[in-house]
Amino acid sequence: MHIIHTIDALTHLVRQWRTHHERIAYVPTMGALHAGHSALLQAARASADRLILSIFVNPMQFGPTEDLATYPRTFDADCVIAQQCEVDAIFAPTVETIYPEGDQTVVDVGPLAEGLCGAHRPGHFRGVATVVCKLFHIMAPDVAYFGEKDYQQLQLIRRMVRDLHWPITIVGLPTVREADGLALSSRNRHLAPSERARALAIPRALHACQARARTLRETAPLIAGVQAALAQALDRIDYVAIVDAEDLTPLASLDRGPTATGVRPARLCVAGYLGTTRLIDNIALVPHDR
Ligand code: AMP
Repeated sequence: MHIIHTIDALTHLVRQWRTHHERIAYVPTMGALHAGHSALLQAARASADRLILSIFVNPMQFGPTEDLATYPRTFDADCVIAQQCEVDAIFAPTVETIYPEGDQTVVDVGPLAEGLCGAHRPGHFRGVATVVCKLFHIMAPDVAYFGEKDYQQLQLIRRMVRDLHWPITIVGLPTVREADGLALSSRNRHLAPSERARALAIPRALHACQARARTLRETAPLIAGVQAALAQALDRIDYVAIVDAEDLTPLASLDRGPTATGVRPARLCVAGYLGTTRLIDNIALVPHDR
């Protein structure tokens, strides 16, 4: 497994693979790898001849009061997981490599970046889109894997790739959860035991809402139910929203009639804090009763 820190070394390697017409899969991460990342790596491994993992804690996507300094960094343990997942190359650039002095070009995805987390983390998705754009250019993968855990990010990357006519297939994979339902996240390791216990309210509220949505079609009471459940457990709620699963616009009702491709799916998305740790989660609201 190659461990690469420079763009030149990575592009040299990628060029060699390309001369042999090898298909390249790519998984971007910020490290502190867990089973959610492994699921992406394993699916990516099975889909291509070569697999690149990037580990880069991207300062541009953190706000000035956010947890950049305390974001977990576990590079040695990450290398072990990468090896187990048969990664061909880890790309772990420095901040100066990705953002050299004088760097000023940014990628602005537009309305998709404005709601949900975008409303509470100004500039966050501009940072995400900019770094993914840079990494895609360096890597030139055929296929890239993202988790539904970061649902807005996944939709935004899909939009960016479509808008820029990029020949990269974006694959989104379901959220990997602990046995008790909590979505795996690098930030979970910051939770104190009592916070970890309270965090369970999030998957419970999502599943309760998913069940209610089979019979209740108006979103206001569904949202109110989730808000009430989370208000008891979390220290702060950033948002509870039911949105169109693709364009992320808020929905008043789950009954929107069939489209050419069937009933438009909806997504319940939530974000909130336990102490200083911000957690997000989401779930599909499927119209089973139609
Ligand atoms: P991160 O390192 O947190 O930036 O995440 C890197 C990638 O892993 C993103 O595409 C995330 O959506 C994905 N990911 C993070 N947590 C999970 C999870 N629990 N299940 C599936 N994918 C995940």
